[in-house]
Amino acid sequence: MSAKKSQRKKAIFKGALTFRPHHFLCALCFQGKGYSPKFIDNFKKIMAALNSSNGDITKIKIVDHTDSICHPCPNRKGMKCTSQEKIVTLDKAHAKALGITSAKEITWGEAKRSIAEKISLDKFHEICVSCDWKKLGICEKALGNFLKKPIK
Ligand code: SF4
Ligand code: SF4
Repeated sequence: MSAKKSQRKKAIFKGALTFRPHHFLCALCFQGKGYSPKFIDNFKKIMAALNSSNGDITKIKIVDHTDSICHPCPNRKGMKCTSQEKIVTLDKAHAKALGITSAKEITWGEAKRSIAEKISLDKFHEICVSCDWKKLGICEKALGNFLKKPIK
């Protein structure tokens, strides 16, 4: 691994992960697809950490700007997204549905429990309505499978 790549990995995993509100559900539904190879690689690393044996106690700081998932995204412009208006709408809908506020910290386990309790498939269709990825059906299927399993 080059020094530059190593630095990037360290930067992503240093301290608490940051997620903007709608990325909790995106993370739960992630199936290896995304905006670019670097974006996918970073997202896979984050999910490998969250799905590891101690992943549920990983702390995630809620932010109202670009986050650990956005970091290598080709659509990121500094702390904003090129689709800022649409993304803010998604964030607001997901924050309200999950009852989360920016600057707070929750664990991945708490986030999953909250999704299990508060996000039905009907709610998913409501809060994700403006997302272009929704029509692929990947997230609906992943969430449906998650909701069928008892939460630990
Ligand atoms: S439909 Fe879009 S916003 Fe909703 S979970 Fe999937 S990728 Fe995230
Ligand atoms: S499209 Fe925007 S909100 Fe989504 S990951 Fe990329 S920079 Fe972040």
